[in-house]
Amino acid sequence: MKSLVFCLLLLSQLAWAHDYPDTYRYQVLVTDKTTSTVTQSSFLSIPNIVHAIHIKNLRKIKASVVVTTDWVKPYFTAWANRENENKYTLNFWGGLARIPGMNDEAFAITACHELGHVIGGTPRIKIKEFLWSSAEGQSDYFATSVCMKNYFKFVNQTKKLTIPKKLSETAFTLCRTTYSNELEFLICLNTNKGIEGFAAMLEHLSQYKEQLSIETPSKKQVKVTTFDSYPDTQCRIDTLFQGSLGQPRPACWFAK
Ligand SMILES: [Zn+2]
Repeated sequence: MKSLVFCLLLLSQLAWAHDYPDTYRYQVLVTDKTTSTVTQSSFLSIPNIVHAIHIKNLRKIKASVVVTTDWVKPYFTAWANRENENKYTLNFWGGLARIPGMNDEAFAITACHELGHVIGGTPRIKIKEFLWSSAEGQSDYFATSVCMKNYFKFVNQTKKLTIPKKLSETAFTLCRTTYSNELEFLICLNTNKGIEGFAAMLEHLSQYKEQLSIETPSKKQVKVTTFDSYPDTQCRIDTLFQGSLGQPRPACWFAK
């Protein structure tokens, strides 16, 4: 949501210790070099697919959603907004998709996260203006425990899922031992390819001050659920990972 922009401004005060030019701290232009594999075409189609395959869920809560995308905008932003009682927008700027290390699967997780604010359920944000919105941690959890599963089932109908190259062994092993069904196994692997891209995005947003990995889960245990802010970044990766394995929400943000 919008607080991402705020965080980014704060972080830009820190030194930039990376190979990318200084401007990459806050923007990646269409013409800039990047290792992101998201194309203009996938940037436009992915949020619309994520939206279309959840129309029934939206109808259940009588909500309508409009997706807006702006490929050229260089800044790192995606957000969900409630326009009026039943109408929501999900918004995506191209700079976010061009962050080095991003991939289509990670961008789909981002789209699922934004949709998750609308249909991700409880816990919700407790701030008055955002009572309609699932909490950040819950939107992450919805993204991989529900939305990415639906997304890949849909994608698999036209382009059969395959085993991603260079996936972490931990992800591979846990997906294999969790899912005996072949399609569910492939969905788990490809979701984890997205989690790796998502981690690269969060590392970039933190100006490479931290390294994130499913191998180093947060040790934090909250007594009260984190309702009104982002869980810390490692905790977000843990949440996505747990969701991909059908495991409960982690204790680093969710209190039972
Ligand atoms: Zn959010």
